[in-house]
Amino acid sequence: MSQPLKVAAIPGDGIGKEVMPEGLRVVRAAAKRFNIDIQFEPIDWASCDYYEKTGQMMPDDWKDQLSPMDAVFFGAVGWPAKVPDHISLWGSLLKFRREFDQYINLRPVRLFDGVPCPLAGRKAGDIDYLVVRENTEGEYTNLGGIMYAGTDREIVIQESVYSRFGADRVLKYAFELANARNRKHLTVATKSNGIAISMPWWDGRADAVGRDYPAVTVDKQHIDILSARFVLQPGRFDVVVASNLFGDILSDLGPATTGTIGLAPSANLNPERKFPSLFEPVHGSAPDIYGQGIANPIAMIWSGALMLDFLGHRDAHDAILQAIETVLKQGPHTPDLGGQATTEALGRAIEQLV
Ligand code: ATP
Ligand code: MG
Repeated sequence: MSQPLKVAAIPGDGIGKEVMPEGLRVVRAAAKRFNIDIQFEPIDWASCDYYEKTGQMMPDDWKDQLSPMDAVFFGAVGWPAKVPDHISLWGSLLKFRREFDQYINLRPVRLFDGVPCPLAGRKAGDIDYLVVRENTEGEYTNLGGIMYAGTDREIVIQESVYSRFGADRVLKYAFELANARNRKHLTVATKSNGIAISMPWWDGRADAVGRDYPAVTVDKQHIDILSARFVLQPGRFDVVVASNLFGDILSDLGPATTGTIGLAPSANLNPERKFPSLFEPVHGSAPDIYGQGIANPIAMIWSGALMLDFLGHRDAHDAILQAIETVLKQGPHTPDLGGQATTEALGRAIEQLV
């Protein structure tokens, strides 16, 4: 066996602390079955408890501590009753994204049997695609300002900034992903009919990058109709790539069409592995259900599967996904899925099947 994989395990706040043990349980089981040498480093910072004790979300040397890791496995951060969200979020997760250049945000969207779908008449297999969001530039800049503030002439400007480097790398990642899948289909989110400078340019970069992937069919869709089709014709999609803002919206809309929020996983990737990538459930700390042991751990567990896949273990990923599929079909189910099982019971059931 080669060098052990080192993973920081950060539960964070609220139900992050309840779903993390189940994520670890299942990842460890898969690692055992597939003979993967993986070591977890438990970390109690990047949490509001730590903030209460120290006045900051993370120690000053957080970057030195995390840099040697192959990945960060993350629960949820935020406890608004104690710490305002902008402090907890900007003091932890958003720092990771930026300083570790996690320029890809990847969200699988998949409908399973046993999960009530808010879209009428859809069954498992009808929805199965990946949303790739550009995670570092585009519309999320702090460039701009307000002129004539407080007067009738008030004007506000906020710039969107794209770079060839930044667009090409996310497009390349999306083309690679599409090229490796059966359907080899890539939807490029755009709005070149209305946003007349940046979006035609973005389309042009997609054409340029796509020249290296002749097997991939490309479908450019305006963000408005694309959103409608997520709801009306989800079967059209295989891999979807979008700039930061459009990707942000699509990566919530997509999972919303497949049922419970407790299922959706995400990956913040630095594909070159120059820095650690981060794997976390899409849901937050859910203060309303924390402490009852009823949070659905599947988003955490699925995020663990994405992590194993990213670290080179597709077989372990697939085994976990199969186990999740079976448990969703047969139970046990947590209350969000209409059952009465605990977080731990679900984790153990999935562990048994891996
Ligand atoms: P964020 O922290 O991302 O801003 P939020 O605080 O708005 O999100 P969540 O913490 O994700 O929202 O909770 C939203 C709702 O979904 C809550 O009612 C919560 O109980 C429920 N929920 C979230 N995650 C889970 C889960 N894993 N299992 C069951 N219910 C969940
Ligand atoms: Mg929250």
